[in-house]
Amino acid sequence: MSKNIEPIYRQIKDRNPGETEFHQAVREVLESLGPVLVRHPEFAELKIIERVSEPERQIIFRVPWQDDRGEIRINRGFRVEFNSALGVYKGGLRFHPSVNLGIIKFLGFEQVFKNALTCQPIGGAKGGSDFDPKGKSDNEIMRFCQSFMTELYRHLGEHTDVPAGDIGVGGRELGYLFGQYKRITNRYESTVLTGKGVHWGGSRVRTEATGYGAVYFVREMLKIRRQSLEGKICVVSGSGNVAIYTMEKLGKLGARVIACSDSNGVIVDEKGIDLDLVKRLKEVERRRIADYANYHKDAKYLAGGNIWKIPCQIAMPSATQNEISGDDARQLVNNGCIVVGEGANMPTTREGVKVFFDAGIAYGPSKAVNAGGVATSALEMQQNASRDSWSFEFTERKLDEIMTNIHARTHETAEEYGAPGNYVVGANVTAFIRVANAMVALGCI
Ligand code: NDP
Repeated sequence: MSKNIEPIYRQIKDRNPGETEFHQAVREVLESLGPVLVRHPEFAELKIIERVSEPERQIIFRVPWQDDRGEIRINRGFRVEFNSALGVYKGGLRFHPSVNLGIIKFLGFEQVFKNALTCQPIGGAKGGSDFDPKGKSDNEIMRFCQSFMTELYRHLGEHTDVPAGDIGVGGRELGYLFGQYKRITNRYESTVLTGKGVHWGGSRVRTEATGYGAVYFVREMLKIRRQSLEGKICVVSGSGNVAIYTMEKLGKLGARVIACSDSNGVIVDEKGIDLDLVKRLKEVERRRIADYANYHKDAKYLAGGNIWKIPCQIAMPSATQNEISGDDARQLVNNGCIVVGEGANMPTTREGVKVFFDAGIAYGPSKAVNAGGVATSALEMQQNASRDSWSFEFTERKLDEIMTNIHARTHETAEEYGAPGNYVVGANVTAFIRVANAMVALGCI
């Protein structure tokens, strides 16, 4: 980190004690910015780094709800509206027991730069709750979502803040959230949430977008190295929304996915993962990935296993933050992995990232690789605003264009800033300059 930025980082750490994931995300961006301040001294003068690292608004609220036995439960809700220089606050909601303010702030901070990379008019935010949807009945999920929205609705709006899904928040939850918003406000404001069902205002391809987009980015990284996805052996962690559609697109482009996982264990199927079965187990029946082995006797289930030990050429972490440690990264490199494309947010630890750089493999950081989800959310807002509904093919073409452009811009910027092939520098610098210019233009906000 350059000398003039170090004290800023220290101050951010001191002002946000204990928020380790937030510190990690801020540090990763700040480490890229030394050369930017040399070319743009006005950003230092106007304290853009200090301002961009402080959320514009943070909302924390109580979410009481009743379980099926009639017992009152209390969870905590969050919405961190991080930066609106480029557009309305935009970013998903996460329901997972690990959620706390530091995690939501790291996700919100990342979202600001990710959204800037899409070149669409969207600022950055993130929200969620420490509510655990696992094992809850549909009615419990509905009551929780209704209570959550009963507070959150007052902070949302087509021109203010437009959430979407994330871990633990998919089509079912978004439906209940939107239903409650509509009931309280008496307004059918489609634009207030994205990721909606296609038959009630959602965009085609939104469900697939993050996974498909991540694979397009990996396809572009391979192109630079004069390679393709054809025949490549891949491993994809998780078996949720991002993982499923990453596997789907990898398969369509000729690669073979041999392993996926959930938080309990890993499935290895050398013939290639049976995606229809994963979709049925996870999207329809909401079961555990362990059940896969009941249908494919030659597949192996590794309870508590580490997916990064499975040899592969392409690794696409698509579960959660810091899932690839330094040791995992070394294992991947030693096993011949040549590309890592991050579908999840910040899935690789600092040590792991260093291992990838030292080994010279193609490493695509999440804020660039997984931007296809939010980009398609912005396309959903565009369709809602014009009361239009685009075809799957048209929407997917737009997503492909956006991802190809993000790859090209981040690749070019990395070269321009003396770090060829370094997509971390490319993404951080491209996004920061875009946000910073908007903040300068809007005055001291
Ligand atoms: P889902 O809830 O659909 O799936 C999450 C998957 O990851 C599940 O298989 C889950 O297993 C696993 N997982 C979650 N937490 C952990 C953990 N602590 N340890 C191990 N495994 C875990 O979420 P998404 O697919 O939507 O999100 C996955 C990642 O992608 C997240 O980092 C998210 O922020 C990021 N992302 C998502 C976008 C989207 O459009 N959905 C957009 C951009 C980024 P289990 O069921 O056992 O918990």
